[in-house]
Amino acid sequence: MRVTLLGTGCPRVSPHRGGAATLIATASAAVLIDCGAGVTQRLVETGREGAAVDALIVTHLHSDHLVDFYQLVISSWHQGRARPWPVHCPATVVPLIEGTMALWAAERALRVEWEQRPSAAGLDVTTHPIESGRRITIGDLEIEPVLVDHAPVAPAFGFVFRAGGRTAVVSGDTRVSEPLIAAGRGADLLVHEVFIHREMPAIPGKRSAASVERVASYHTRSDEVGQVAAAMGTRALALTHFVPPEFDRAALLAEVARDFAGPVFVGEDGMEFDLANGDVAHGRFRARLLG
Ligand SMILES: [Zn+2]
Ligand SMILES: [Zn+2]
Repeated sequence: MRVTLLGTGCPRVSPHRGGAATLIATASAAVLIDCGAGVTQRLVETGREGAAVDALIVTHLHSDHLVDFYQLVISSWHQGRARPWPVHCPATVVPLIEGTMALWAAERALRVEWEQRPSAAGLDVTTHPIESGRRITIGDLEIEPVLVDHAPVAPAFGFVFRAGGRTAVVSGDTRVSEPLIAAGRGADLLVHEVFIHREMPAIPGKRSAASVERVASYHTRSDEVGQVAAAMGTRALALTHFVPPEFDRAALLAEVARDFAGPVFVGEDGMEFDLANGDVAHGRFRARLLG
């Protein structure tokens, strides 16, 4: 199983961190989790294409996880996709997916007629509401949705992925989630969001101390995420969804290492974890992921 971080940012714009997106690839499945801003560029940048993705999974109804959905559909069609897109998402996201397709229906019809491509099947989308506890199987990949706590945005899901004897957990956006800790116990890799509180001072005209507190309260803080990894007993931790996207890396790593003794990686767009080989790569950077 390979886990590729395609977008490690948040709504605040960063030239280095795209919107939320993670790819899980196995011998017979490729699943994209979320489709935040820049996901299609990152797919191509990491040697993949939307056309080859078997399914899209959406964690929750927040724009930074969804805004490039239609670009994903069109670009994948241009890459030769000739099969419909299964979209597994919370019931609250179904109207957004179906509504997006409806809003752009005339645009699509013109493209189909004018561009004369071999198949229009890649432009079809089927929605499948996620239910907590009901597993999804795609190829050799077993996916367990876990209801996490991102209220007032509900439902929101994290996921446990199992294939080839390996386990990866993707938190989605959540407060510290006991159900996720329980479901992911003993994982090989935990990909978890993080809110770096000390890097988020109030700024007059932009955000008040109350705004920062409210946003922090439905995420997992940097002084909590190491405890989550330790409680889960994951072998390695990759941080993603950085709020804010620029921060003191050494301070963050030191903070997390206080609670979690295993390897911790500051996620970057394009960083790939190979759970079969037990290594991690990003550009020229190579390291052992698992001992
Ligand atoms: Zn988010
Ligand atoms: Zn969110």
